[in-house]
Amino acid sequence: MRFIKFVTAFAGLSAFCGTANAEDHENKSKAKPKLVVAISVDQLSADLFSEYRSTFNGGLKRLADGAVFPSGYQSHAATETCPGHATIMTGVHAGRAGIIANNWIDLDVERDDKTVYCAEDERIAGTSFGDITAATQGDYVPSAWHLLVPTLGERLKKISPESRNVAVAGKDRAALMMGGKDVDEIYWFKGKGFETLAGRKVSEKITALNTELAVKMDAARAPSKIPAHCEARNMKIPHGDGKSVGDYAFQRPQGGGRAFRLSPDYDGAILAAAATTLEYMRLGQGAHTDILSIGLSATDYVGHTFGTEGLEMCIQMAELDQQLGTFFEVLDSKDIDYVAMLTADHGGLDLPERARLQAMPDAQRLDASLNVKAISAKIAGDLNIQTDDQILHADSPFGDVYLSKKLSADQRLAAKDAAIKIYNNHPQVYGVVDGEALKKFPVATGPVDEWTVFERVRASYHPDRSGDFIVILKKGVTPIPNTARGYVATHGSPWDYDRRVPILFWQKGMKGFEQPLPVKTVDIAPTLGALVGLDIPASELDGRCLDLDGGAGNSCD
Ligand SMILES: [Zn+2]
Repeated sequence: MRFIKFVTAFAGLSAFCGTANAEDHENKSKAKPKLVVAISVDQLSADLFSEYRSTFNGGLKRLADGAVFPSGYQSHAATETCPGHATIMTGVHAGRAGIIANNWIDLDVERDDKTVYCAEDERIAGTSFGDITAATQGDYVPSAWHLLVPTLGERLKKISPESRNVAVAGKDRAALMMGGKDVDEIYWFKGKGFETLAGRKVSEKITALNTELAVKMDAARAPSKIPAHCEARNMKIPHGDGKSVGDYAFQRPQGGGRAFRLSPDYDGAILAAAATTLEYMRLGQGAHTDILSIGLSATDYVGHTFGTEGLEMCIQMAELDQQLGTFFEVLDSKDIDYVAMLTADHGGLDLPERARLQAMPDAQRLDASLNVKAISAKIAGDLNIQTDDQILHADSPFGDVYLSKKLSADQRLAAKDAAIKIYNNHPQVYGVVDGEALKKFPVATGPVDEWTVFERVRASYHPDRSGDFIVILKKGVTPIPNTARGYVATHGSPWDYDRRVPILFWQKGMKGFEQPLPVKTVDIAPTLGALVGLDIPASELDGRCLDLDGGAGNSCD
């Protein structure tokens, strides 16, 4: 077990003895937990959870024995990593949190690169986020300054300054959105190891883990053992240019470190960093409640690179289950009284090439002609607009689209009208939502599974950051025109395969129950808040407290 080795080396697992005495916990059941462990598994859709639930026997089994909400919702339309993580620990929708997408356009920013990354501080001179389409990254400075609302950890520190707020994730945006600005320690993985905010020092223990990781990443890796239930998933699926997915078990040669991130080993490394931080900060072992947010990113990279229904995801689910089991054993061995929550930032959709073989003949890739550059050129020609700026700006072929600021008021109106017509006439476009219309509508509060597309878009809309209009693709359209750059599948739509995620809570001694009716990820922060004695004013929340006591008691009281 690769992960056990990490924990043994860095969290001193070998020195621990025995598990906690169950009787101790019965007496403490009404006391506040000393540690909240909030886990987000990037791209763990409700569909994946239900597909593999019966096979879990590790950490995911433990969580599935707790309070289970199999139909959780990331309510909004922009189902990307950053908006998703921004809802989990804040209790507000992505739009109210100010995190409308992973990247958006800010035509007023005083730098050449007008693409702004959700988790950067673009006000710092000389920075850039880079060219997304060329898959190159700029030299941006990671920051949570775009997040407009406090996280649970930040709220807790306000009333209990000795509480610690810690976040560890594979991606900087996951750690920053769950932790917020006021964090005691924060780590994410970049290149060859874990790093932290500018001006802060990576701790000695994490530096030591990075050294161990560098060796691990460079070493050859034998294929994962294929669990019996994964055999049926083991099938090669071609997706163009002689490439295929579906039958890979994560073997890699020496020096193949780049593939490390696209394997279950990546989550093992993140959990090792979380366990290391837990150990040296003695989280959950002081007088006050601490918060540890963990963003596990491997499921997302596996989903993008290999799709969601092949051998790769089957192995990823099995190994994640075991790694989480080991992580919880570390907590148990320290007799920490903790509550664990697990959810996801968004779901995902399998690659169309496999979906077409498996009963979905209409699954398709986006037509490459649907892009702002081509559409801008057509509008400029049709309307005879002469400008040195592109008429439309966008970071992606769908989602937020911004009109050039160099147009006159009349040109803007005409260009917007023409653009909306062109998009609406495209056979892969479901519809276009006008920002002006969204501004006038409050966020929906009815049953989240019945929200209209307009209401979903509204929940990730912010008037100062969102586009002049928002383009929605039809269900089953994968917005990756071809797989040349390595990603075969994705998420980001307002459709339920991208919105629905499991929400699971577990605490020692709790009586588990299942509530199949829909709840929201914005319910998580008020639910955890009530457990740790934080009463967040309802006006500052879009969610509600979920009663985790399956009997007559009420954990929200
Ligand atoms: Zn993703």
